[in-house]
Amino acid sequence: MLSIATIAIVAFIAAASLNLNAQARPADEARARKFIAEHEARVRPLEKAVNLAWWTANVSGKDEDFKTKEQAQNKLDEALADNERFAELKAVKALKLRDRLIARQIEVLYLTYLEKQVPAGLLRQLTSKANAIEQAFNVFRARVDNKELPDSEVRKVFKESKDSARRKAVWDASKAVGAVVERDLRELVGLRNEAARTLGFRDYHVMQLHLNEQTQEQVLKLFDQLDELTREPFRRAKADIDAKLAKHCGVTVDDLRPWHYHDPFFQEAPAVYDADLDVVYAGVDILKLCKDYYAGIGLPIDDVIARSDLYEKPGKSPHAFCTDIDREGDVRVLANVVPNEYWMNTMLHELGHAVYSSKNIPRAMPYVLRAEAHILTTEGVAMMFERPARSADWLQKMGVPVADPKGFNETGEKMLRNQLLIFSRWCQVMLRFEKELYANPNQDLNALWWDLVEKYQMMKRPEGRHAPDYASKIHIVVAPAYYHNYMMGQLFASQVHRTIARKVLKADPGTALYVGNTSVGEFMKKRVFAPGKTMPWNALTKFATGEELNAKAFAADFQGK
Ligand SMILES: [Zn+2]
Repeated sequence: MLSIATIAIVAFIAAASLNLNAQARPADEARARKFIAEHEARVRPLEKAVNLAWWTANVSGKDEDFKTKEQAQNKLDEALADNERFAELKAVKALKLRDRLIARQIEVLYLTYLEKQVPAGLLRQLTSKANAIEQAFNVFRARVDNKELPDSEVRKVFKESKDSARRKAVWDASKAVGAVVERDLRELVGLRNEAARTLGFRDYHVMQLHLNEQTQEQVLKLFDQLDELTREPFRRAKADIDAKLAKHCGVTVDDLRPWHYHDPFFQEAPAVYDADLDVVYAGVDILKLCKDYYAGIGLPIDDVIARSDLYEKPGKSPHAFCTDIDREGDVRVLANVVPNEYWMNTMLHELGHAVYSSKNIPRAMPYVLRAEAHILTTEGVAMMFERPARSADWLQKMGVPVADPKGFNETGEKMLRNQLLIFSRWCQVMLRFEKELYANPNQDLNALWWDLVEKYQMMKRPEGRHAPDYASKIHIVVAPAYYHNYMMGQLFASQVHRTIARKVLKADPGTALYVGNTSVGEFMKKRVFAPGKTMPWNALTKFATGEELNAKAFAADFQGK
C-alpha cells in the first residue's frame, strides 16, 4: 500500500514529466505524423497492388499472374526493408508520444518494418530454402507397393479401409516426406534462428510471437489452462471415437495406432456418426442463406457477395479466403461453393471475416489501424459465425426444413464438440513442439514429437518408431509459429459468444442463436469491429468481453457432456 504522501509524490513526478514531454511534444508528434503520412503515400498503393495481384492469381491460376503477385510482394517487402526509413521509425518510436492514436500507429508500423530488417543475403537464403522444401512437399506422392497414391486415395483409405495392415502401409507412406525434407528443414530452422538473432531475439519462435504482440509465457499460460480444462472432456470424447474406430477395423481399443484415425495427424474429428448433415444441405441455397442470416443480424454482406468469386472453375484455387483489398470497403471472398455442410461452414466463416473489415471499421480510423486487431480476433469472429451450421434449430429458424431435427442436432453437436476438442489437443502438440524446435534444434526431435503426441493427443506411438514424423507437417515450413493463433481464435469465439448470450440476448449460451437479432450486429460493431487495431488483441478481448482471453468460456462449451 502506498501512503498518501507517496501517492502525492508519484503524482507530482508524473505531472512534472508530463510537463517535460509537453514541451517536446509538438515537434515529436509532427515528426511521427510525417513518418506515418510518408508511409501511407509509399506503402498503401503497394499493399493494394499485392492484394489485387493475390486475388487475380488465385482466381486464374495463371503463371503470369503468379509472377505479377510475386513482383508486387517484392516491391512491398523492399519498401518495408528500407534501412533509412527503419532508422527514422526507430527514432520516432523512442520519443514519448502522448497522442494515443499516433503512438499506436508507430507501434504497429515498427513491428511491420522490424520483420523485414533481416540482412538481404540471409533473407534470400531463407526464402529459397523454404521454397525448396515447399516444392518437395508439392511433388511428393505417397508410394505403396511401388505405386504412387494420389492424396484423394490416401484420404479414402483413412476414411474407409477396415484393413489395419493397409492403413499402416498408407500411413507409413504418407509420413515418408518427413525423411525427404528433414535435413533441409533442420537447416531452415538454423537460418530462421540466425535471422532472429540478428534482430536481437533469443530464437525464431520468440521473435515470431513478439512480432505478433505475444510472449511465450503468456501463450503457454493460456495453453496450460486449456490443457487442464479440456483433458477429461477430450479423454471421454476420444474413448467414444476409439470404440467406434476399433469396431470398424475389428481390433481392440488397445491395438489402435495413429493409422486408425481418419487423417495422418489426428487433427480432425473422424467421421463416425450416423446422421448425414450433407443430406439436408444438398437442397439448400447456401448463398441466400448467408445473405439472409447476415442481413438479419444487422451485418448485411450483399455487396461482398456481388464482388466475390464463388464457384469452381479451371485453374482457380480450390480453397477459400476473404480479402480486404483497399481498406475502403472493397472486401471479397474466393470460394468454390457446392451445396454441402462443408461449404455452409466455410461460407459462414469467410463472411465472418468479411464483416470484420473496413466494411464495418469506421472510415475515420487512420489507415494503419483500419484492420482487425489481430489474426486471432478475426479468426475468432469467423469461427463464432461458423458454428451454427451444425444446428437444426438454426436451420429451422432460417426457414430450412429438416426432416429429423433431433438426429441432426445430436450429430451436429457431437461433431462440433469433437472437432473443437481434437483440434485443441493437436494445437497443444504444435505449439509446444515448435517452441522446443527453435529453442533447442539439436535435441532428439523424433522422440520429442511422439512424447507430445502421447501426452496431449493420447495416441499411442508405433512401437520402435524412429522417424522424423514432425517433418511431414508442412505448416512447420510455410506457417511457422502460427498454429496457436487458430486455437486462441476459438477461445475468443467462445468468449465473445458467451458475452453476446449474457448481455445482448439474455439467453442460455448453449442454445442462444442470433437469427433475426440486429442487436447482435450492433454489439459486434461497437465492441469488436470499431476499435480496429487501436488495441492489442488482449485489450480488445477485455473491451469486448470484460475479461482477458482465457479458456473458461471454451471449456464451458463442453461442460457436463
Ligand atoms: Zn479464417
